[in-house]
Amino acid sequence: MSDTTIEWTDKTIRRFWSYVHVGDMNECWLWMAGLFSNGYGQFRLGPKKIKAHRAAFQLTQGRLPDDDHIILHFCDNPPCCNPAQLQSQPVACGSNL
Ligand SMILES: [Zn+2]
Repeated sequence: MSDTTIEWTDKTIRRFWSYVHVGDMNECWLWMAGLFSNGYGQFRLGPKKIKAHRAAFQLTQGRLPDDDHIILHFCDNPPCCNPAQLQSQPVACGSNL
């Protein structure tokens, strides 16, 4: 995925969090900028469009979710960027067979 090649500068990180309505750890932190058509937050970085919840996971966990992992929301709220409500899970386990 293209979002594995992002260079996170301090400026970019500050801009990212400026779009997140940060609340308590048990609340949803909603993305306040544009959304993808599927409801996920969309962070624009030059020509790239990054899923905001994946970026939030990366910035707080210090690593990117593996390409074969999806990021699940405990809260079932796609625009939510609260890292406490995100969990990385292998795609195989997350498929709804
Ligand atoms: Zn949430």
